[in-house]
Amino acid sequence: MVLSSVLGFPRIGANREIKKAVEAYWAGKTSAEDLQKVAAEVRKTSWTSVKNHRVDFVPSGEFSLYDHVLDHSAAFNVIPQRYVGLGLTPLDVYFAMGRGRQSEGVDVPASEMKKWFDSNYHYVVPELSEETDLKLIYNKALEEFKEAKEAGITTRPVVLGPVSFLVLGKSAKSAQPGFRPISLLPKLIPVYKQLLSELKAAGAEWVQIDEPILALDSAAALEKEYTASFTELAPVSPKIMLTTYFSRLDSNVRFIAKLPVAGLHIDLDRAPDQLTEVANAVKNTPIVLSLGLVSGRNIWKTDFGAAIKLAQTAIDILGAGRVIVATSSSLLHTPVTLASENKLTAEQKDWFSFALEKAEEVAVIAAVLSGSQDASVTAALEANRVSINKRREFEKNSDDTVRKRVAAITPDQLNRKSPFPVRKETQAKHLNLPKFPTTTIGSFPQTKEIRQARAKFNKGELTKEEYETFIKKEIEHVVRFQESIDLDILVHGEPERNDMVQYFGELLNGFVFTQNAWVQSYGSRYVRPPIIVSDVSRPGPMTVKWSSYAQSLTKKPMKGMLTGPVTILNWSFPRADISREMQSKQLALALRDEVIDLENAGIHAIQVDEPAIREGLPLRRADWDGYLEWAVDSFKLATAGVTDQLQTHSHFCYSDFDDIFPSIQRLDADVISIEASKSDMKLLNTFKHYGYSNQIGPGVYDIHSPRVPGDQEIKDRLQAMLSILPDSLVFVNPDCGLKTRGWKETEASLKNLVAGAKWARQNY
Ligand code: GLN
Ligand code: ZN
Repeated sequence: MVLSSVLGFPRIGANREIKKAVEAYWAGKTSAEDLQKVAAEVRKTSWTSVKNHRVDFVPSGEFSLYDHVLDHSAAFNVIPQRYVGLGLTPLDVYFAMGRGRQSEGVDVPASEMKKWFDSNYHYVVPELSEETDLKLIYNKALEEFKEAKEAGITTRPVVLGPVSFLVLGKSAKSAQPGFRPISLLPKLIPVYKQLLSELKAAGAEWVQIDEPILALDSAAALEKEYTASFTELAPVSPKIMLTTYFSRLDSNVRFIAKLPVAGLHIDLDRAPDQLTEVANAVKNTPIVLSLGLVSGRNIWKTDFGAAIKLAQTAIDILGAGRVIVATSSSLLHTPVTLASENKLTAEQKDWFSFALEKAEEVAVIAAVLSGSQDASVTAALEANRVSINKRREFEKNSDDTVRKRVAAITPDQLNRKSPFPVRKETQAKHLNLPKFPTTTIGSFPQTKEIRQARAKFNKGELTKEEYETFIKKEIEHVVRFQESIDLDILVHGEPERNDMVQYFGELLNGFVFTQNAWVQSYGSRYVRPPIIVSDVSRPGPMTVKWSSYAQSLTKKPMKGMLTGPVTILNWSFPRADISREMQSKQLALALRDEVIDLENAGIHAIQVDEPAIREGLPLRRADWDGYLEWAVDSFKLATAGVTDQLQTHSHFCYSDFDDIFPSIQRLDADVISIEASKSDMKLLNTFKHYGYSNQIGPGVYDIHSPRVPGDQEIKDRLQAMLSILPDSLVFVNPDCGLKTRGWKETEASLKNLVAGAKWARQNY
């Protein structure tokens, strides 16, 4: 018998119940009790629907009101001092840690968030120190296991493993220099012992312990910690399914196979090639191998034929009794169900599987491998064969023009006509900018009025003409404001954009959009990534109308604004049939045409945002060079088609450049803007250290809060920056776009920013 399993389920609820309930609670519109009621309903619905698809191992305990890493911190008493003693309930402490709190005399900032491996999900970083008093204050896994049991469903509880929990954490500010979070392991193991033995006592047969760190290079140095942890935990725990995902085990498999666990899960969606090696490594142990065959990261229907073949390899080595068919990772990164999509065509719908459909996939694949003759299984297998064939047929419709263009890319197309120092001269004459030029990152406040107008236009309540007139008025307002405060390089403000990726996806060939395919980004923030389904091309200009209208209003240089190829790719569901590199290059060619059109329309500077270039970095260092090569080439391809006098800008919201610095230099953007107000000046030292040669605008204030930076504060910051960077290379700008801000603070902050730059011009 081959069993089936799902590693985790989306938390939002089929109708976004959790998002709505959590936000209503924050707004003070509902009680904690009501919130918990909604949460219990959503959990029950998820368990029931996964179970109804005949999945053997149904997950519990991974549900979260905000973030699962934060759940562990709260349960283990990893609560920074600043959240203690504020007179808040445990639930409010939990939310305060996630998102900060400003109310009734309480004013605490949120904890730091970080990207969850290479996904667009963000987790709340545990803060650890010698003082951390680790103890189990709430056994969430146990409570939800019991809750499911009462509902008649036996689940396999999920917990994040002790080593990954500590490695994902960071040293608290109060920690001694040199403190390493992993040094807390001996204190954390007793907490896990208690957690796991309580689960065992409650009747849990299995527990899924997630140790995603095991699929990273860094695990190689943690053999001792892993061995110690699992040697202590195994005797008191339910059977342990040690779970890895998003990458491959590589040489770590040597010690992993020796751990005293009952099962090991590997990701065969990301790393199918590891199967034989891992299966052979566990062959002479009692370990059951869980095969992550159904992608937890993408939305394409699983090819049953291919999955069955791969599983057969494992069965040949281990026997059917030691193989489980599973999702590759938690389904957290996929939308709930295809059933709520009414606008996709029948043909398109047939290509995809969302979380619920994936639950059915694991069950069917396992049934086939178990030799089931059940009519519904045979029918599902046949239906899958038909669907996959149809999709394969569709994939043959490649766009020859696009394919030929990609094949014909030359190194020449990647490089500007002259090197940066020459361009700098040309641009200085052409743009006539003062020293320390001021600019913004692109968007201005997306007000309620703007969102309402777009909603009305989408519902047909505004005509295209009425909507465009409205947008033009917004642009004019933004331009006049920037002129009035004397900014140097202006933007049009991006009022026409619903989202920096969706906007372009809707104007390009090759994308489809969903109505309900929400995926958690962080907390109650969900995104709806577009899906790339075929070759990408640009039917016509996408932004030229707006940028040239904005330019027509002013004599100051207008900066065109585009989202970069790597970011569009990373924030979409990509195709699975061609490489990411190919998709990125197709996007780059489409953007290249837009960039050239913008220059021809009289635009003087163009910014191509690539905030996701770092997030797309592969998890294994051995894969970095290959990725960075095509990612940087894509940016260059998009931006290098212009004359020397056009100033190219790029923007990144992050600042950890240390390990990819040469690639940032190789982008060869004339100006880059980066997040710098929250991080200390360490980052600028990196630029200095490597002798970064092009222009750079380190953000002088944080746009993520409504707080207005005083003008002295901005001067201080500029002073600090100018003590590190050469005067001739510095631009002055905020950290990121202003779309989430209100006008009031935007006006005040930007005025202070301009004042700061003017002060610097006089003093440097
Ligand atoms: N140009 C975009 C904006 O200003 C950049 C957004 C981003 O970096 N995430 O909103
Ligand atoms: Zn940004």
